[in-house]
Amino acid sequence: AVRAGRLVRRFGDRTVLKEIDLALGAGEFTALLGRSGSGKSTLLRAVAGLDHDVEGSGELLVPERVSLSFQDSRLLPWLRVLDNVTLGLRGPGARDRGLTALAEVGLAGRERSWPHELSGGEQQRAALARALVRDPELLLADEPFGALDALTRIKMHDLLRELYERHRPAVLLVTHDVDEAVELADRVLVLDEGAISVDLAIDLPTPRDRRDPRFQEHRDAL
Ligand code: ATP
Ligand code: MG
Repeated sequence: AVRAGRLVRRFGDRTVLKEIDLALGAGEFTALLGRSGSGKSTLLRAVAGLDHDVEGSGELLVPERVSLSFQDSRLLPWLRVLDNVTLGLRGPGARDRGLTALAEVGLAGRERSWPHELSGGEQQRAALARALVRDPELLLADEPFGALDALTRIKMHDLLRELYERHRPAVLLVTHDVDEAVELADRVLVLDEGAISVDLAIDLPTPRDRRDPRFQEHRDAL
């Protein structure tokens, strides 16, 4: 679904991405780990085509329908939840598709709410509905659960994995939580010093049990 060759991003004299090669298969769920400041968001923006100053000496192939959810949920406060979800969608079916997406993330009946009337987890659900309503071939998600409490996080993990199984987009999920990566993804990349330092296949059945010794083995390899 994605092929990017030798991506380079410099900020002044700092090189944050050093000739990164990235290939993601269609329908593959990949997690991207890395310390704060390692360049995860920068890489995501480059893949999303939002960064016009990224350099690449290889090819850059990205599917047509890409959805990106940001580190904060970025619902527009002056639009009701449904209008946030369907923003930019055209055609007579847009409203129904928005309502279906809201129902899928457990927000049926909340379409007329304002973003500030939703809890943090509900806002993330709405952001997920907005990403899914476009039926993306590639879903880029930048720490979508960062701001959530532990319990809501677990619920959102289950929801994301369930939505993924149903729609099968390629996913690139940025996180700094190793357990979250091993729990959700089938492949984990680690970004370190501007390069991909680890590329690990997660060979475990889903749903995953964190107490399973094989889970710990994968975790320890990261
Ligand atoms: P976090 O986990 O904290 O979100 P990250 O891995 O997403 O971190 P990035 O946001 O990609 O990190 O930033 C990588 C590095 O690039 C950081 O050191 C940051 O200061 C720098 N950087 C990012 N954007 C800019 C910019 N517009 N101008 C200058 N430096 C930038
Ligand atoms: Mg970031």
